[in-house]
Parts: sequence; structure tokens; C-alpha cells
Amino acid sequence: MPADLHPNFQSQYDAVIARNPGEPEFHQAIYEVMLSLAPIAGERPEYAQWSILKRICEPERQIIFRVPWVTDDGEVRINRGYRVEFNSALGPYKGGLRFHPSVNLSIIKFLGFEQTFKNSLTGMPIGGGKGGSDFDPKGCSNAEIMRFCQSFMTELYRHIGEYTDVPAGDIGVGGRELGYLFGQYKRITNRYESGALTGKGLTWGGSRVRTEATGYGTVFFAQQMLGTRGQSFDGKRVVVSGSGNVAIYAIEKVHQLGGTVIACSDSDGYVVDEAGIDLDLLKDIKEVRRGRLTEYADQRDSARHVSGGSLWDVPCQVALPCATQNELPAAGAKTLLDNGVEMVAEGANMPSTPEAIGLFQEAGILYAPGKASNAGGVATSALEMQQNASRDSWNFEDTEARLEQIMTDIHAVCVATAEEFGHPGDYVVGANLAGYIKVADAMVALGVI
Ligand code: NAP
Repeated sequence: MPADLHPNFQSQYDAVIARNPGEPEFHQAIYEVMLSLAPIAGERPEYAQWSILKRICEPERQIIFRVPWVTDDGEVRINRGYRVEFNSALGPYKGGLRFHPSVNLSIIKFLGFEQTFKNSLTGMPIGGGKGGSDFDPKGCSNAEIMRFCQSFMTELYRHIGEYTDVPAGDIGVGGRELGYLFGQYKRITNRYESGALTGKGLTWGGSRVRTEATGYGTVFFAQQMLGTRGQSFDGKRVVVSGSGNVAIYAIEKVHQLGGTVIACSDSDGYVVDEAGIDLDLLKDIKEVRRGRLTEYADQRDSARHVSGGSLWDVPCQVALPCATQNELPAAGAKTLLDNGVEMVAEGANMPSTPEAIGLFQEAGILYAPGKASNAGGVATSALEMQQNASRDSWNFEDTEARLEQIMTDIHAVCVATAEEFGHPGDYVVGANLAGYIKVADAMVALGVI
């Protein structure tokens, strides 16, 4: 680990490791938050008196269940389903579902923990949770995806609801999967409870801008960061990792703001397109055909595909990691810095390792942690809940304007909190402290529960 924790927190961190063995991603997420709490160590005696830190690191509820389903060939498969309801001090648990073979309890717990502070930062009344399965949707037929989603929801439905826990999408869970999940929820409960899931389709209770929200929000946040140095996206050379939901809409917004995204990736490699990523082609391959990035290079003269390798080798002024956790290690950070990167803003959750973050901070570049910069997705999910509760539907422009305002507000809170606690310009300290204090104060108010 790159830096020592404040002595007040070291023993609590050691206790978390002992209590949650074999969960490195969960330990990493806790370490990153505890590192930021140093400015309030010894302050706020009520937090110590009510064991806030100890309680905040323990999920309120962890559900693990069997998900049996049948392939098109009649073979029975078993996957494992998870829902970790982390913290409901501020509102019903809220956070996405991830379907990816790498999913395990450690990953769901780290995501749920991060989500708690992210949701707090949005200023909306939502607690933190996360779920998913080690199911791999790649290569599955539509019918197999539907049967898996139906089986998953047949257990999950009893744990969720508008006032309890409101899941959404994440890696491997997009509009198609949410449709099958919501359909099964509706069928089992015999209720059209729109507020029980977000990321729904526009014709059945969804919100405009939800699809675009995480990517757009990340770029709105990054735009505010550039503004603190008198700059903008105009003319910037940008690299975006991933080519899924977050990456695609981050690319779209960068292009709208005058920047050029010249590279993006998937788990097989990356494409470099000096003419700028052709978004129509990328959307067609990824959203319509559900294809691979190699097809992009095949169809575009200005593009080349690099199998394997590191996307971070591509020189750029702005890097937006939008794929997955720990995708930006120290080596990638060093190369980015050597090539003159000026800003890294995270669209993914915890994509930079602690060592990489240390290098960015040491170099004094602009760096934003995902829990602040990618909060636009969940914030727009909360807007979807508002529209569902009032049986209303807002237009695209108004919804996007709300998203931009929310990201501007989160940015302002991060900047002000970092400054208040003696770390001006440090978005990590600003985001973690602002997110933590709000949840902690609510927990004090609600008593030991
Ligand atoms: P997605 O649509 O499934 O896309 C994920 C992208 O990342 C794909 O291009 C995928 O490539 C790539 N990827 C996934 N795992 C990878 C790995 N182990 N190595 C290399 N590339 C990998 O998912 P998403 O919704 O865009 O989510 C991306 C990130 O944003 C995640 O960290 C998620 O938690 C975070 N996030 C999402 C939202 C949201 O609203 N969706 C909100 C906040 C944060 P392949 O296709 O090759 O797997």
C-alpha cells in the first residue's frame, strides 16, 4: 500500500481484514476511504462513541443464492447470485447488478461500500447496495439470458422494492437484462412497481438520459475539473477504456464538447483511431450487433486494433477509465504521466490502483475517483424513481440539465470539502470525507441499529 493509515484507523482496518479474509477488492476500497479520513481522526467524538466506522464497514445484509437455469441444449447450469445491502442510513439500498464471471463476494462488497458514499454525494435520499452474479452473458443466446434473468429474479424479488432496495444495471446488465428482470418481478409480485428497478426502457417506466447518464456525468464532472485550471475539453486528445455503456456515452459527450477520443478498448485489446472514434460505428457494433472491437478496425481505414497490450500506452491529455476495477495499475499511470496526461477522471468503479492514484497525486495532475465522477448514473436513477413516484416523464433536455447540475454540485462539494479539511485540489479526500460525514451523521441520528 502506498501510504500509511492514521494510527486511529489502522487497528480498525486490521480488524476488517481479519473479519473478511480473502476479499482484496473490499479491503482496497476500505483502505482508500480510511486513508481520506485522517483529517477527522480524533475529531467528532460521537463517531467513536457510536462505533460509526466499524458499523459502516459491515454490510447491513448479505444475501447469496443459487441461480439454476437451463441452456438451449438442455444442460442445467448453476450460478451464484449476490445482493449486498450495505447501508440504508440515507434511503433505500440503491446500486447496480453485475453479471460477469469475475463476480464474487469481495467485488460485490467493494462496490456496495463505494456506492454508499457515492450515493451520499449525489444529495439524493438513497442508501448503498450492489449485487450480481458470476454468470457470463458472453456467447449466450437471447433465450438463455432471459431464463437466467428470470431465475435470478425468482430469488431476488423477495429482497427488493421501492422502499427497500432498488437495483439497476452495471457490467453485463443493460436494457435487455433489466427488461427480463423487471418482467419477472412484475409477474411474481403481480404489481407494476416501477420504483423497484431503475434503468428501465422508456416505454415501460424508464427515464430519458439514464442510458447516457454515467458517461455524460463523468465528462460533465471532468469539464468542471478542467475549469478549475481555466481549461476545457475543446481540442483535447482523450483516451477512454472500455466500450460498454459508460465508455460509449463518455465518448459521445467528449465529442460534443470539442474533444477527440482517439482510443477505446474491450477485454481483448484496444483500437486507436487518430481520426477520432466513429461513434455510430462503435454503437452499431457494441449495442446492436453485440460484437467485438476487432470489427471496428476491420471497417474503418483510419483505425488499427492492438490485441492485448495496454491502452494507457496511447499518448493523451485526458484519460477516462470506464471499464472495470484495477484496470489502471502503476505501470499504466507512469506511462500516461510520461506522455503528458493532464487529467484522469474515472467512469468505472475503482479502476486505478492505490499505487496509480499515488502517482497521479504526486505529479499534481487532476485526478477524480469514480465515486464522485461516475455518480451521474445513480443520480439519474434517483431521477427515474422521482418520475415513477409522480407518474411523470421528463424530456431529454430538462433531464440532462438536471444531471449536469448534479455533477456540478458534486464537484463543488468535493472542492469545498477538500479545502475545508486542508487538502485543496484533492478530489479523493473531498469525495470520501463529504460522502462519509453525511452517512455518519445520519447513522448517529438513527441510533445503534
Ligand atoms: P458494460 O456496458 O458491461 O461495459 C464494460 C466494458 O468494460 C466492456 O467494454 C468490457 O469489455 C470492459 N471490461 C469489463 N471487464 C473487463 C476486464 N476485466 N478487463 C478489460 N475490460 C473489461 O459495463 P458498464 O455499465 O459500462 O460499466 C463499466 C464500469 O462503470 C464498471 O466499473 C461499472 O461498475 C461502472 N459504473 C457503471 C454505471 C452504469 O450506470 N452502467 C454506473 C456507475 C459506474 P468486454 O465486452 O470485452 O467484456
